[in-house]
Amino acid sequence: MRFDTRLIHSGQPADPQTGAVNTPIYLSSTFKQSAPNRHRGFVYSRTANPTRSVLEAALASLESGRAGLAFSSGLGALVTLLEAFPTGSRIVSIDDLYGGTRRLFEHHRKQFGLRIAYVDMRTTDAVAGALDDPADLVYIESPTNPLLKLVDLRAVARLAHRAGAVVAVDNTFATPAVQRPIELGADIVLHSTTKYLGGHSDIVGGALVVKERRAGREFAWLQNAVGAVPSPFDCFLVLRGLHTLGVRMRAHQAGARAVAEVLARDRRVRRVIYPGLASHPQHALARRQMAGYGGIVSVELPGGLRGARRFLKRLKVFTLAESLGGVESLVDHPATMTHASVPRAEREAIGVTDGLLRLSCGIEDPADLADDVRYALGGL
Ligand SMILES: *Cc1c(COP(=O)(O)O)cnc(C)c1O
Repeated sequence: MRFDTRLIHSGQPADPQTGAVNTPIYLSSTFKQSAPNRHRGFVYSRTANPTRSVLEAALASLESGRAGLAFSSGLGALVTLLEAFPTGSRIVSIDDLYGGTRRLFEHHRKQFGLRIAYVDMRTTDAVAGALDDPADLVYIESPTNPLLKLVDLRAVARLAHRAGAVVAVDNTFATPAVQRPIELGADIVLHSTTKYLGGHSDIVGGALVVKERRAGREFAWLQNAVGAVPSPFDCFLVLRGLHTLGVRMRAHQAGARAVAEVLARDRRVRRVIYPGLASHPQHALARRQMAGYGGIVSVELPGGLRGARRFLKRLKVFTLAESLGGVESLVDHPATMTHASVPRAEREAIGVTDGLLRLSCGIEDPADLADDVRYALGGL
């Protein structure tokens, strides 16, 4: 079956008890046993819950993996992933990371002796150099947040595997509708389902999908041991979100293109970053490894923080808020909001300046998004 069909049907049979076409929300923490340790696969809802199991099977199918695991947040998924790497493990990570991911990496570095090298992975040479020292995990975001850098997943996975490292890709920005890292060689995919997979800004959730069944069993053990699991109700909402992921991503991308084109035409704008623009330095890679360019556009305005404030004040459709990937358009000022925990010098060194805004284009009419941005530019 093709992707849009799998979004609705994969791992989601009609309820065997009643024929309900939607997965029921099993609000039960525990399950009756017919005799000690005789049960129907469900014992306690931290370990497994029927609504969650359906979501996990759907996620595994959509990311072309063997097993999926749902978590209470993207960072809940990440902390569980890190539990698999003992003291002294070495991570080679991309340098432009979701702020909370970096914060957790740094905490594990100080607290548990994790070793981390942050590398600009836009060139495979830089990755190869970092892999001269043995590494256990190569951790990638592509496109990155907020600078939309891309990583050649196939090439980096090959290098990592040659060096004996496991490859994990945070696929939150692209979603499996646009990019499937396991098909390109990754071992693990991570998601904040809070974003596009949930898609309606009404839940916080996360997921891991793994290529190998054995890794699936290991992470299921850790999922139960750590306990960062989502509620059955949140699992239902992510399943409901998945059904429309294909149509939503097409609409997000239409909005993003319209917005990127308006910004690119204004000569005062310092820099428009969108992988779908021919001006993006890695546009050719985007065409090769993605089936689309995503719904996020970043822009550097003139005038630093004051320029950004003037622009933000005139926006009517875009809402100033953290997060992304919902049906409504949101705008974020990374330097003071999502990336405020990154020290200023480091932030500016990688290009997260005070004039940078990240636009998450929703599924409103693209013409209204373009008009909104055009009007806001008038305030500069
Ligand atoms: C939001 C986000 C996370 C963290 O997910 P939460 O659900 O907020 O814990 C991780 N990676 C990326 C790329 C994100 O955008």
